[in-house]
Amino acid sequence: MKKSSGNMRTRVVVTAGPTREHLDPVRFLSNPSTGKMGFALAAAAAKAGYETILVAGPVSLPAPEGVERVDVVSARDMLAAVRKALDGGKRRVFISCAAVADFRPRSVSGVKLKKKAMSAEIKLVRNPDILKTVGSDMAKGLLPETFLVGFAAETGDALAEAARKCREKRLEFIVANDVTVEGAGFAVDTNKVSLVFKDGRVKSLPLMSKREIGRAHV
Ligand code: C5P
Repeated sequence: MKKSSGNMRTRVVVTAGPTREHLDPVRFLSNPSTGKMGFALAAAAAKAGYETILVAGPVSLPAPEGVERVDVVSARDMLAAVRKALDGGKRRVFISCAAVADFRPRSVSGVKLKKKAMSAEIKLVRNPDILKTVGSDMAKGLLPETFLVGFAAETGDALAEAARKCREKRLEFIVANDVTVEGAGFAVDTNKVSLVFKDGRVKSLPLMSKREIGRAHV
């Protein structure tokens, strides 16, 4: 996206952080995402003059200046908040940076489960893929046309996997990083990413701070 005088009419929706999938009020499945990359992107988008909505899973970061923040817990809450956020604005960009839990416990107890009564096995069901759902909502005309950007945290062949996801999720490009590289991935202030475009082009960026990467994207 290039900065332009029309920024105010473009809405940028960013998801960030993990989701939590509760088993009972005190137990949940989640992952180590801290939300740093998504918050940096939202801060950069707001600074560039875009109307920015940040849909955040449970993280301990303050909302960046000029950003409308919507806090959510589970993947299903996040999908509902994203659908609502994308249903407006003149032009829309959706940057899906959240580390969404792929599964959730099949049943959730409203009260804390007694250790003795718990089984050592938890039955799981698949969560919706938020990005893929937004793409198919768009294809069905349920959501307006939106420029879709994904993130892919991989271990190993990051680029090949990213290219596959870009096609599968109808993305303009995907930001791929190998989380096994030192200084990249979860809970650090830096990241080393490659942008994989839908036409197969790849642009690799050097190790940069997440703030710098946020500015590079927008
Ligand atoms: O987990 P995966 O590698 O497939 O993530 C690729 C992209 O899909 C990321 O942008 C992530 O935010 C998004 N995603 C999602 N909902 C999921 C899983 C992933 O929106 N349930």
